[in-house]
Amino acid sequence: MNKKIKELLIGSNNKGKLREIKNLLPYYIKTFSTKDFKLKSPKENGKTFKENSIIKSKYFSKKTNLVCIADDSGLEIDILDKKPGIYSARWAGKNKDFKIAIKKVFKELNKKDKNWKKKKISARFICALSISYLNKNLVCVIGKVEGSIACKAKGRNGFGYDPIFIPKNEKKTFGQIPFSKKYKMDHRSKAFKKLKNFFKRSVLD
Ligand code: IMP
Repeated sequence: MNKKIKELLIGSNNKGKLREIKNLLPYYIKTFSTKDFKLKSPKENGKTFKENSIIKSKYFSKKTNLVCIADDSGLEIDILDKKPGIYSARWAGKNKDFKIAIKKVFKELNKKDKNWKKKKISARFICALSISYLNKNLVCVIGKVEGSIACKAKGRNGFGYDPIFIPKNEKKTFGQIPFSKKYKMDHRSKAFKKLKNFFKRSVLD
């Protein structure tokens, strides 16, 4: 028997991501969040964004018996050897304080090059999105948005590293760009576009 996905658990405890993912999903899908089941996130011990997103979607699906979509995302800064990368959330510490994470970015950039503020510091947000049912990964895609690092944090929109990321061909940071515009152009929406066909097909055996 083939069934179309009508219910989906969004495997994230991050409010910013939950909001974005909800906005990008087909309207007919009823969503649940990990908070509805009081679930904590698993240990992300993968070596890549892809591995971590699959770890999360399988873990939450097995806990709830629901098909689960999960993402793993982060910021890669080229002159920092692509750091913070998969450690993006961890740079914010236990309290998930992104003022601390942003301070660390500036500290690392200063260590690397005292004149970094005069240069274009290329960076990108990456998002791996996966959908799993129990122990089976059904699909995994990657989306990227290229850009650069601002000299100081600007704007109060968004979350995480948004105040220091200027997407290519824009002058403002994601923190200054309205949410209604950001979520249509970022790494997560680019990954979602690759999932369009997946949602059209019947996928559950
Ligand atoms: P994780 O995917 O839960 O491991 O967390 C990745 C971290 O990367 C998040 O906690 C954010 O700080 C950061 N991140 C991912 N996507 C975005 C975004 O769209 N804007 C700002 N920061 C992001």
